[in-house]
Amino acid sequence: MTVTVRFAPSPTGHIHIGNLRPALFNWLFAKKQGGKFILRYDDTDVERSKEEYARSIAQDLAWIGIQPDLVEKQSDRFASYDAAAAKLKEAGLLYPCYETPEELERRRSRARALGRPPVYDRAGLKLTDEERSAFEAEGRQPHWRFMLPNHEGNPFETKRTEVTWNDLVRGEQSVDLASLSDPVLIRADGTYLYTLPSIVDDIDMGITHVIRGEDHVANTGVQIAIFEALGATPPVFGHHNLLTTHDGEGLSKRKGSLSIASLREDGLEAMSVACVAVLTGSSHAVEPYDNLDTLANVFDLGSVSRSSAKFDPSEIGGLNARIVHELSYDAVKDRLAGLGVSGGEEFWNVIRGNCAKVQDAVGYWQIINGEIEAQAEAEDLDFLKAARRLFPDGDVTAETWGAWTNAVKAETGRKGRGLFMPLRRALTGLDHGPDMKDFLPFIGRQNSLARLPE
Ligand code: GLU
Repeated sequence: MTVTVRFAPSPTGHIHIGNLRPALFNWLFAKKQGGKFILRYDDTDVERSKEEYARSIAQDLAWIGIQPDLVEKQSDRFASYDAAAAKLKEAGLLYPCYETPEELERRRSRARALGRPPVYDRAGLKLTDEERSAFEAEGRQPHWRFMLPNHEGNPFETKRTEVTWNDLVRGEQSVDLASLSDPVLIRADGTYLYTLPSIVDDIDMGITHVIRGEDHVANTGVQIAIFEALGATPPVFGHHNLLTTHDGEGLSKRKGSLSIASLREDGLEAMSVACVAVLTGSSHAVEPYDNLDTLANVFDLGSVSRSSAKFDPSEIGGLNARIVHELSYDAVKDRLAGLGVSGGEEFWNVIRGNCAKVQDAVGYWQIINGEIEAQAEAEDLDFLKAARRLFPDGDVTAETWGAWTNAVKAETGRKGRGLFMPLRRALTGLDHGPDMKDFLPFIGRQNSLARLPE
């Protein structure tokens, strides 16, 4: 069977780096096994789901390097959910209940007060036809619950029923179905909760592995029971830890600064975002990898930790700089052209070690092409005048800086920082930057002389 996975976001907001984790975990898992990746929009909530969010999710995934084999939308598939619901109703496994949310809450508090687990008592199953009609005459519509298989014929006599699965991340897991309330699959307004559509899709789309956040662990026992009630073999499950900041704060969809779109607009490399998303909270160090294939080769779900994945958003910047320092000219030439930087490969190779982001090239390009703000201390004035006089004749090459600074040293007696720093500042306007030996030929004679006092 072909490994088939899905990433199933609800298009109700922009995705952030935490949401990217299940996307990448699924993608890398499928890639490693020659499998298929489905992007499935869980958009049954028609009020909150928006086409613009679906588009932005697709754009974010494309930027990261994920190309789905197939894109599906739950809103196109209501007929399949209705058919599955009908099948469960016919089998007596989906039953109508009429309690209002307030009634349910009252019952739960009563159960808690009596020290009993607040599990739904299946009162809906006891209703007679007359009682149901009476509720409906009052204007109440039923919500529908799935009867968990936690009894041997009499649903009011439940018994411990363990559902177990071998989780790809967490190992052996089990849930006692007798400790859970029968889940509501259809709301009183006729809309589906996430559970049933997700299972129907997983079955129809041949999903072999469900890899998702550990906030879904509690759903898995119930979902396995529903897969089986629908006559399907459940997929393999894997639940990964969730990304939080160091103070343990979760990343909600509203955390704009960590949205994929804002990280992209900030000029970060897709691979630095991908490496932080995937490697944080695993036994691997958060190191730069240059593409998703190499990341797929080192990464496996078994290395994901069972405690939370804490990260400091500034780590992305540090990792980004390390990635940019190694980027080949080929990898950046179109972007440099877009930024108006046309210094070619040699220029890129000279500056890349000092670029934390690719667009930092613009600043260096301005240094060699335009005006800079003069940076000269009064006490360096005579020194800089002498340096101007001693600027070597002939072409400015990689030898020029050494020859020049030797001559300046011999005449002024300065050395070390006192020799180099005023020159760097005068010529570049900066305290640090590319190696002056390699950078000077780009600055050129004319600019250099113009930046030194006569
Ligand atoms: N739409 C669900 C979510 O975003 C999908 C969960 C799943 O992968 O089953 O949480």
